Amino acid sequence: MLRFFTTLSCLLALAGPALAGEAYQFPEDQDESNFIANEVIATFYHELGHGLIDVMKIPVLGKEEDAADTLSVILMNDVWEEQAATEILTSDATAYALAAADPNATPDESALADVHSLDIQRYYAVVCLFYGANPDVRKQLAIDLELPAEKLDSCPGEYQQAADAWSAVLQGTEPGPDKKGLVMGPGQEGVPLADVLADEVKAMNEKFGLPEEITVIVADCGEANAFYSPSDKTITMCNEYAQDLQRRWEAQPK
Ligand SMILES: [Zn+2]
Repeated sequence: MLRFFTTLSCLLALAGPALAGEAYQFPEDQDESNFIANEVIATFYHELGHGLIDVMKIPVLGKEEDAADTLSVILMNDVWEEQAATEILTSDATAYALAAADPNATPDESALADVHSLDIQRYYAVVCLFYGANPDVRKQLAIDLELPAEKLDSCPGEYQQAADAWSAVLQGTEPGPDKKGLVMGPGQEGVPLADVLADEVKAMNEKFGLPEEITVIVADCGEANAFYSPSDKTITMCNEYAQDLQRRWEAQPK
């Protein structure tokens, strides 16, 4: 079943005062909160891509980071109904645009040599794929997000190729009694970021059954990051990542 948007207001209500100072708290501004929660969801799907590549031993042709970005868009498209999917994609694209515009992050040699494509390339790639998944409905979105007109024609084919490739390598991941799944690390209930992820864990467990368990945690990392660790099969969403999204959102020219 396709998912409709869950407002953050109920999540905010779950975050009691006892957690103040101990966990990332979403800002009061609804647009800002939705941006951060949506981007946490998109990033979680990306990290799940790394996790699936690991536990399913999926061969990777090309950059693994690009493959993970692609899976993120496929999941947005497949799991959510149109409006919610569009809001998540728009937040994801906005996060790349804000990162690309950050004067402290001008692409230098290390960015050019990085395992990730450049933020602005990731921006166009996710917009193209999302548009290509449903071009009849999403053309205005692609125009609004300034996907170059000459790029529109190839996006449906690019999405289909990507979706076929992921579908082929995910054969056999249907949930079942002998399968494992995603689990939230213990003691995280009521932590706002973890509650966002717990909903995604539940949704992904209805979609995928895995040969090994993948644990999902929210943690202080000392850096603004989210990552999958193959050694302990864990997806970590750093509090600093949400804080950094919030900083970038608030630093936009008004
Ligand atoms: Zn990655």
